[in-house]
Amino acid sequence: MKQKKARRHSGKKYLWYSILCVMLLVLAGSTYVLMSFGLIPMTGNKTLDIIIGILLVIINIASIVCGIIAFVYYKRNSNQIRFNYATFELVEGINSERAFLAYVAKDIKRNRGKANALVAFAATRFKKIVFTRYGYEKGGEVLGLVYETFNTLKTKYPHSYYGYDYNENFLIYLRDTPYEQVQEYVNDLIEEINKTLFENRNEVKFVADFGVSYCQNENDEFITAASMLQRALIAADHGRAESDLGGLTLYEPKMYERNKRNVQLGLQIERSLELEQFELHYQPKYDLKLGRFAGAEALVRWRHPELGLLSPANFILFAEQSDLIIKIDHYVLEKVCKQLDEWRGKGQRLLPISVNISKRTLFTGNIINHLIKVTDKYNINPMLLEIEIVESPSLQDILLLLSIVKKFKNLKVKIAIDDFGTGYSSLSYIKKIPFDVIKIDKAFLDDVDIDQKSRLMIKNIIDLAHILDAYVVMEGVQDERQVKMLEEMGADSIQGFYYSRPLPPEEYQAFLEDNLFEANKKKKRGRK
Ligand code: C2E
Ligand code: MG
Ligand code: MG
Repeated sequence: MKQKKARRHSGKKYLWYSILCVMLLVLAGSTYVLMSFGLIPMTGNKTLDIIIGILLVIINIASIVCGIIAFVYYKRNSNQIRFNYATFELVEGINSERAFLAYVAKDIKRNRGKANALVAFAATRFKKIVFTRYGYEKGGEVLGLVYETFNTLKTKYPHSYYGYDYNENFLIYLRDTPYEQVQEYVNDLIEEINKTLFENRNEVKFVADFGVSYCQNENDEFITAASMLQRALIAADHGRAESDLGGLTLYEPKMYERNKRNVQLGLQIERSLELEQFELHYQPKYDLKLGRFAGAEALVRWRHPELGLLSPANFILFAEQSDLIIKIDHYVLEKVCKQLDEWRGKGQRLLPISVNISKRTLFTGNIINHLIKVTDKYNINPMLLEIEIVESPSLQDILLLLSIVKKFKNLKVKIAIDDFGTGYSSLSYIKKIPFDVIKIDKAFLDDVDIDQKSRLMIKNIIDLAHILDAYVVMEGVQDERQVKMLEEMGADSIQGFYYSRPLPPEEYQAFLEDNLFEANKKKKRGRK
């Protein structure tokens, strides 16, 4: 508790220094002014007057120093995460990917010749265990405890530095820490996390795959901070593939071989983007209240020259590990605009299309400018577009996400939260970000027939979304019984194989033109 207070206090350091700076300026300034107007008489004693003059100069210098310190604290603070994922409290000490790498780059330069280590780990498996056991609200809280642990360890390892990247990997930099000590650190971290979990009455054991790399390569040459991160992640991946038990893996050059195959895949994707070998399929969404189709989701497919049509499962996760995903998302957004323009040209029915945007694209891909560019190019009303974001932005991204969502809203583009309920974010997060649409993940429908809890959860999410004035889309609906149930629960819209699979553009238009659902809701169409 004490520690928490101290941390919060230090977060406001720049504020205190700014106040001190202003106060000193006012003190020195007003004394000058009052003296020059004769309101404060000179003492007449030359030595005393000189001393007062010197004192005023010192106060001025002190105010400048305070100003500089305030600025430094402010800059340092603005690079750090401001929100606790779970509680929305202020948190310090965990940096964004960019800030983290900048720090590491500087530090390894300053500490050449030392065993500077970078550790990376993804808590994906652990998150899944927590989520299935406690649900997403509690899951957010438990993750909050993991972040707390970093701060506890900071006392024992003062030369540690923490960060969090766009793919939700935790990053730790340990200055001058040989491998045995890194092992010790990782054991301490796991022990501390488990202790915190236990104290907070959570009966889960922490498990993660840690990877570590050093700032020198096998030939003793220095490598960049970004390469250190890449190698630590390769090692962590390698460890994950080797064992289910988690643990620490040291990077070795042979691990790069597997990664090289990934490099090939990356190049292939880039080439296919240039050749426009990526296609979009459109899955219609049925508005239950209007009794008609009210839009569709664009889903990307790769027409691979040798392997045929590939679904996103084959390349999106991979692409999300690098800036490749930005290229894909930009491509898809442009292709949708081009398609809408084409349909308009043919006098076909235009309904809003939603586009999936990955977090990396959202936060680093200049997506707003791209959207303005492509809507201008094809003369598309942005109201015809909707952006789907998968929930749970990383800690450092919440403020940024808010500002981006506002920009989309200014352009009249709707924002949807995709796969709602599968992530680990707290409910307070969706309260803070004004989503227009909440898409409930299809996983909730898996056992809906047998599990009363799943039904209750769906109903609660629908009610919650409506309290927040959001429009609810249920994903993955496969049969008429589910449609009925959702209609009774008050869902606004349905997307799923029951109505249609994602369709190539021409089939989608044909479907809209002659489908039977709008004429007769009960009658199921044969097209599946
Ligand atoms: P998503 O955005 O949640 O899209 C819905 C996925 O559920 C689609 O899978 C769709 O085919 C599938 N689906 C729809 N109805 C049903 C149903 O009734 N039953 C079942 N079992 N599945 C159904 P798809 O097309 O394979 O896409 C998977 C994911 O890939 C998407 O999930 C989305 O997260 C990602 N994705 C697709 N296109 C893009 C893209 O252009 N950019 C990015 N960043 N991600 C994309
Ligand atoms: Mg989606
Ligand atoms: Mg989804």
